[in-house]
Amino acid sequence: MVESDNGFFGRFGGRYVAEVLRRPIEELEEAFHACMKDPAFLAELDDIRANYIGRPTPLYYAKRLSEQLGGAQIYVKLEGLANTGAHKINNAIGQALVAKRMGKTRIIAETGAGQHGVATAAACAKLGLKCRVYMGEVDVRRQQPNVSTMEMYGAEVVPVTSGSRILKDAINDAMRDWAANFKDTHYLIGSALGPAPFPDMVRTFQSVIGREVKQQMAAIGKNIDAMVACVGGGSNAIGFFEPFIEGPEPKLYGAEAGGIGPGRGNNASRMVGNDAVDGIMQGFKTRFLLTEDGQAGETRSISAGLDYVGIGPQLAQMGESGRIKFDAILDSEALAAVKTFAQTEGVLFAMESAHAGALALKIAPAMRKDQNLVVNMSGRGDKDIFITCPVFRPEEWKQFLRAELARLDAGKDIHDAESMKK
Ligand SMILES: *Cc1c(COP(=O)(O)O)cnc(C)c1O
Repeated sequence: MVESDNGFFGRFGGRYVAEVLRRPIEELEEAFHACMKDPAFLAELDDIRANYIGRPTPLYYAKRLSEQLGGAQIYVKLEGLANTGAHKINNAIGQALVAKRMGKTRIIAETGAGQHGVATAAACAKLGLKCRVYMGEVDVRRQQPNVSTMEMYGAEVVPVTSGSRILKDAINDAMRDWAANFKDTHYLIGSALGPAPFPDMVRTFQSVIGREVKQQMAAIGKNIDAMVACVGGGSNAIGFFEPFIEGPEPKLYGAEAGGIGPGRGNNASRMVGNDAVDGIMQGFKTRFLLTEDGQAGETRSISAGLDYVGIGPQLAQMGESGRIKFDAILDSEALAAVKTFAQTEGVLFAMESAHAGALALKIAPAMRKDQNLVVNMSGRGDKDIFITCPVFRPEEWKQFLRAELARLDAGKDIHDAESMKK
């Protein structure tokens, strides 16, 4: 099954929303389908993809790494070279364009680590839409670089102070805003989840990744035997896999956040292990990591983009049917993979993407030399220096931060701050 069956993928998915959201969601569904049949819409989307996002992104043959491992030939889809540094812009631009066609002037979004907020803020700036991003107060404090970037793009970042002040609380506030303001507002969900039609819509806009891979491999006369992607909510994975979902080839692999190992609260493994259970939250049904009393549980991962408590409904269904084989990658394995790809190939993976990289490093050696494996580098790693530097160079990094603080406290370099604000 590629498209959802009335919003469902097997028993997952659906549209579990308050009555007030029925109409905006139905209007959105209609508008989305109309857009995808409208040549003018598709032409505008293609133009923005080529000239703003920078598509097609390259598909790169990792020659040295393939030789070193001695198994499958490894290819890397460099999605991290898309404008803003990751695949999230594909969906943000797509949905923002649909919203604009619907006559909406305002976009709201939720963000956890801030990467979806950054992509949405950039898309709104590009298309001239007002943008408000809901972000848990705890996340606002933890993710200042992304908050600054969103504001740089002209977005308003609203710290959410309800509940535990993290992503799930931001989603609740965004839903409430949408219900109250849907006449002029679109709620731009950031991954292949949420109530129908969001999973279908997000997959559609991300499927440009998979279509390009198919063409790029065909252009060099290569078959694809295996594909590997990391899975948070699941948008880069489902977009990368999309043209190949029906199978049975190539083999599809999903890398979840294995955190520091098995055990509740130590990871974000919804498919591997037995900690996740069926639940309905945030408008859809999937496998969730919940507490004993059915609330969103704690998750842990070195990569902020992979620590969501649920998983996109289509991926959950494909995992249970056996179409996608899931593995849980430990924080330490992902860190090692960042280094391996950087030092062998000169490609710096984002922490999230490094989970896919680490899984590829495990799978490739067991494959034949005449087989090809494609790994999706969903994002580039520049954003992760606050994670990688404290691990790889702790003392130097501490010294650097202390010196920066001292410099700021001394008032240097901020003399122009007042005039810059104007
Ligand atoms: C957000 C993010 C992810 C995880 O989100 P999906 O919806 O699962 O793709 C993966 N990689 C990068 C670089 C991200 O920013």
